[in-house]
Amino acid sequence: MASVFEQRLGAALEQRRQQDLYRQRLTLDSPQGPLVRLHNREYLNFCSNDYLGLAAHPKVLESFLRAATEYGVGSGASHLVCGHSRPHQALEEALAELTGRPRALLFSSGYAANTGTLATLLRTGDQVFQDRLNHASLLDGGLHSGARFRRFAHNDVADLERRMAGVDGAKLVVVDGVFSMDGDTAPLAELSALCRRENAWLMVDDAHGIGVLGETGAGSLEAAGMGVSDVPVLMATLGKALGVAGAFVAGEELLIENLIQQTRNYIYTTATPPALAAAALAAVQLLHEESWRREYLATLVARFRRGALEQGLPLMESHSAIQPLLVGDAGSAVALSQRLRAAGLLISAIRPPTVPAGTSRLRITLSAAHSEQQVDYLLEQLGRHWCQ
Ligand SMILES: *Cc1c(COP(=O)(O)O)cnc(C)c1O
Repeated sequence: MASVFEQRLGAALEQRRQQDLYRQRLTLDSPQGPLVRLHNREYLNFCSNDYLGLAAHPKVLESFLRAATEYGVGSGASHLVCGHSRPHQALEEALAELTGRPRALLFSSGYAANTGTLATLLRTGDQVFQDRLNHASLLDGGLHSGARFRRFAHNDVADLERRMAGVDGAKLVVVDGVFSMDGDTAPLAELSALCRRENAWLMVDDAHGIGVLGETGAGSLEAAGMGVSDVPVLMATLGKALGVAGAFVAGEELLIENLIQQTRNYIYTTATPPALAAAALAAVQLLHEESWRREYLATLVARFRRGALEQGLPLMESHSAIQPLLVGDAGSAVALSQRLRAAGLLISAIRPPTVPAGTSRLRITLSAAHSEQQVDYLLEQLGRHWCQ
């Protein structure tokens, strides 16, 4: 007789297949870049988060190799035991400087940074308010924090204000700076003004803004002119525009020292390899040395939007590197993604539960590593396959 676990697991897979929600991984045989190799064929890559083309940048690689030679591969322990080395420290200092904050603290992933920070800040009796479209790691952190969990309508500050009115307890408002599946940005000035009136703290997850937005690439807060007093908790990742892996939280000494003392996902986990920190430090330096990447990416985004508009494609309200095209049902989104794959384009169909039901989409991402010709080819193929 099949055990209850076998039955449950079998049913879960079957249900996903029937609803066009079954997911499969691609196995790449090349570095990240505008062209990637998959099953001995090259594809134009429009689905990675390597927005600046730094994941395989020679300086990032060189820094990684040099640090691996000097520090070895494994960090050997958690940060609080003996896993914290000079490259980790140097990266934290560079991230604090980039974001204009007193301190920054590394985490091994954005998921760990978000869930850990929320667990540390919140307790029973508190209130956490989250945008409906926040990243899963923020929602999970909020749900498991013990605080009363409230979602508000996407980017709707008036709805948030109504929900906050007359509510007791410590209040934390949490948003993505750039929404990962929509590409639009949070109204940070309005949110921070509301938080000030309500005596609430604001936390921003800038996974998709760091490196890309703002004069120096410091992200959404720089673009919005917000400092540490407006947004006490800033989290961002190192695995997207910065091309490496891991994440950080930046803020005042009081916040960072509490994360070091209390956050279980920080304390009870092995520090990432020092060479990763050295690679990320090289990427942070490239934000300054190769600022053309940010400017060029913005011209590609404008070029894509102009072309898509001319063809009547269903663009979303995004001016970031994330340029989704809304399809609707999951099956059609997958079929479209497969037709584009046959034409040599790698574009993922994003389906529930990552996005709300009925809003499946192609999530197209642009990178400073793309050429204008590659973006034009993308537009041409979208025009050809969209309505078939
Ligand atoms: C990718 C992402 C994360 C998770 O970061 P990882 O380092 O990949 O775990 C968190 N928040 C947002 C908005 C993201 O897009």
